[in-house]
Amino acid sequence: MTTEPTHLPLPLSSDWLEWVGERGEQQLALTRSLVEGLRNDPPSEPLEVLRVWNDAQTALSNAASVGSLFSEVHPDPAVRERAESVAQQVQKLDTDLGLDTGLYAVLAGIDASGLDADAARVLERTLRDFHRSGVDRDEAARDRLRELSEREILLSQEFSKNIREDVRSIRVTPDQLAGLPQDWVDAHPVDEDGMVTVTTDYPDVVPFRTFAHDAQARRDLVTQFLSIAWPANDRVLQDLFAARREHAALLGYASWADFDAEVKMIGTGAAIDEFIDRITELSTASAERDKDVLLARLRRDRPEAIDIDGADVAYYSELVRKEDLAVDAQKVRTYFPFEAVRQGLLDVTGRLFGLEWTPVPAEDARTWHEEVATFDVSFGGERIGRIHLDLHPRDGKYKHAAQFDLVRGVAGTQLPEGVLVCNFNRGLMEHDEVVTLFHEFGHLVHHVLAGGTEWVRFSGVATEWDFVEAPSQMLEEWAWDPEVLATFARDAEGETIPAELVRAMRRADDFGKGYDARTQMFYAALSYDFHVRKTDDLTARLRELMGRYSVFPYLEGTHMQCHFGHLDGYSSGYYTYMWSLVIAKDMFSAFDRGDLFDPEVAGAYRDKVLAQGGRRDAADLVEDFLGRPYTFNAYAAWLAE
Ligand SMILES: [Zn+2]
Repeated sequence: MTTEPTHLPLPLSSDWLEWVGERGEQQLALTRSLVEGLRNDPPSEPLEVLRVWNDAQTALSNAASVGSLFSEVHPDPAVRERAESVAQQVQKLDTDLGLDTGLYAVLAGIDASGLDADAARVLERTLRDFHRSGVDRDEAARDRLRELSEREILLSQEFSKNIREDVRSIRVTPDQLAGLPQDWVDAHPVDEDGMVTVTTDYPDVVPFRTFAHDAQARRDLVTQFLSIAWPANDRVLQDLFAARREHAALLGYASWADFDAEVKMIGTGAAIDEFIDRITELSTASAERDKDVLLARLRRDRPEAIDIDGADVAYYSELVRKEDLAVDAQKVRTYFPFEAVRQGLLDVTGRLFGLEWTPVPAEDARTWHEEVATFDVSFGGERIGRIHLDLHPRDGKYKHAAQFDLVRGVAGTQLPEGVLVCNFNRGLMEHDEVVTLFHEFGHLVHHVLAGGTEWVRFSGVATEWDFVEAPSQMLEEWAWDPEVLATFARDAEGETIPAELVRAMRRADDFGKGYDARTQMFYAALSYDFHVRKTDDLTARLRELMGRYSVFPYLEGTHMQCHFGHLDGYSSGYYTYMWSLVIAKDMFSAFDRGDLFDPEVAGAYRDKVLAQGGRRDAADLVEDFLGRPYTFNAYAAWLAE
């Protein structure tokens, strides 16, 4: 008898601390006992060995999900701390398993000849992981690798914590708020000293640098923003890069970038360097043209200006869009009340992928915060997973936008559950936020649709890292389509967003795509370079790379490396974002722009790309969907448009 897997029951609000600890301990203990069985008394059938290994990996991923999610989102600092300790234990066990020679001997001894394609791939990937963890190195090297891995985890956690907890602010007079939307001003009352506090959290800093007329106040806030976690994280980064360099060298790689790229579509570190240069070259003409427009507009206010930097770029981009491209962001946002957008997103993605989202009433879905909304997901009448949307900022919460796993789906064992963690306005949303919501939802749909596999190794967003962003970047296109937006974007009078306005928004968004690409390549170069070349002064090196790759000059007194969270998560692979965009544009070219809901194309994409998870190489999934290998053509055409 098998019972249908169900969702993970979450605790009552008073029991969280205990629950997080128990869930972590339980799943870690299960992992350990399954592995011990494998090591000491392995099944005789090769497939059975893999199945036990799969169960152990599933349990470990369950502990990992609880640790990483709740250390970032739980409102209670004690729960966050407990979750962080679970995450540390997971990482430690994962490292131990990767260096477990007895376990390795059992798995490496499997006769693969009778395995089907999926099982053979699980084995091949598992053995590659073992090799990359250094299990075939001598004992001294293995000990050192273990130390380094533990050190890297602690440094990563310290890096994120420093960013998360360093909320800075400036104090301004009420008249320095001129230019900001009225609802934003209303939400920032004047204190007893007659001043207003503006913080470096996204819902403050994004509108402020975009709309505030006061140039000095903008500069002050952006300077604070680009100095978050300075100087604490400068040392953390140096230690992290040093640990990674030694780590890669011990495994026999020429650099951390080579080690990291081996398991990506791109293949080698040198190819990253080439890719950055290729995109830099492709985008230069477009970048220079649009930057000249910004500078000309700035000179109307400041005739002596010879260049434009990060304190002014967002403001003048917005001004050019408003004056020359006739898009008023404050008008645009009246069409995007949060509740309507969230429902619209569910309707659009439901129709596109044939999915049904059923709200789970609060009394049935305990969550970690009252603002979290929970939905069950069905496909063809069958329940295939659950999602949680945690979309507004609060103290101590993760500051960016990302999808987290709560449970990775395994056929017959556990339903996939995913969580969106974002920091959106509660009232009217900026269109940028709507695009981000669609983007992150692309990851969530991927997590759920690929959650029906037998092998946890391939479940959810288990594809190569430089492909991960392609499905989410492609889904952004739906947030730019007039017909799609017309299904939910309405203002307080019930007026639907006009198609002409959406087309104008698109033109306005396209403004700056060249210099944005150059900025992205600056970030990519930062992430690559810091990992391949040792430097004593990160800020000086940042300055140099900014000069080479960005078209905007360095902002004096800032240290943006210290809060560039992707230096931890993406390590040397920040290029992946642009790489994924190249693939996303190519995949999108298969859709008919006149009918983005064409069920045949959308269905093929769902089944051949998303639902496959990590079962095949991404290049093969894309080729299967497109009927040809991927190319750079669609991306180059978009840049030239
Ligand atoms: Zn993403």
